[in-house]
Amino acid sequence: MSLARGPAYAFRDGGLDRASERRADAAALAADRVAPATRFLMLRADGRVLLDAHATLALAAPADLPVAADEATFLGLHDGAARFACVLPDDVAAAEAGRRGGRFADLRGAAASLPAADAGLVAYARALAHWQSRKRWCGVCGAPTRLEEGGHRAQCTDAGCGATYFPRTDPAIIVIVACGDACLLGRQASWPARRYSTLAGFVEPGETLEQAVAREVAEESGVRIGNCRYVGSQPWPFPASLMLGFEATARRQVPQVGCELEDARWFAASEMPDLIARGELALPPAMSISFHLIDRWFHRRTGAHLSPGQPLGAR
Ligand SMILES: [Zn+2]
Repeated sequence: MSLARGPAYAFRDGGLDRASERRADAAALAADRVAPATRFLMLRADGRVLLDAHATLALAAPADLPVAADEATFLGLHDGAARFACVLPDDVAAAEAGRRGGRFADLRGAAASLPAADAGLVAYARALAHWQSRKRWCGVCGAPTRLEEGGHRAQCTDAGCGATYFPRTDPAIIVIVACGDACLLGRQASWPARRYSTLAGFVEPGETLEQAVAREVAEESGVRIGNCRYVGSQPWPFPASLMLGFEATARRQVPQVGCELEDARWFAASEMPDLIARGELALPPAMSISFHLIDRWFHRRTGAHLSPGQPLGAR
């Protein structure tokens, strides 16, 4: 079973046709910004998204938008109607939340309560907004940049420079390492008590994904892996990662944690349900690919499923 057909985890499905060809069509975008069927999702500068009074995603029609639509970022088409995202100034955001009886939720909180397609849409919008907020000036010459193509490109305004910037995504690997009946999980000191998760880390320049998997596991646990195999991916916009999920095998070695982890240990599949039931082991929340890598491995060994951990929740 591939993860693509497995249980859902967050941010995989924006429910959207990105209609990327439309980004360069200024006339089409201008018409979209005022079309009655168009909807705008609204973010705050800190990336939180506006939910309405029923905790569903608040979507404003053009006539209802509390700011000018010119700067809104084009996300795509949903059933033929355009979706945009806009960032509200703090005072406007507060007034809009009050008017709607809603609230701004962070992405983890939104992911825990929104339908998968809406959570995916928010993740996409938030990732773009974060990139835009950090690309206001040219990294080559220092001149201001101008957003183009519906917010998907930043262009240096200095004619002699003309540097162009595109949204970036930072690849990171995440891996379940298995040895016989056991899997290797680690925990960071900052995590909730007794939570253990799969090992993960950023891919470095000049490195293959397979090399990154082997290096990260060795750095974090001292364990040398054998083969690894790609399983599936998850956009992880905290703020701009793409988690590339792998499974790997290793011979049993005593984990030696480095500076990144507080602990790493082997958990036998046969003991995990009891440990979880007794509160001695907490897994990552269901929204994460990490939980699904663990659960997928567990299911293959036992035919049963594990209980996910609690989400961190809305802050
Ligand atoms: Zn420049």
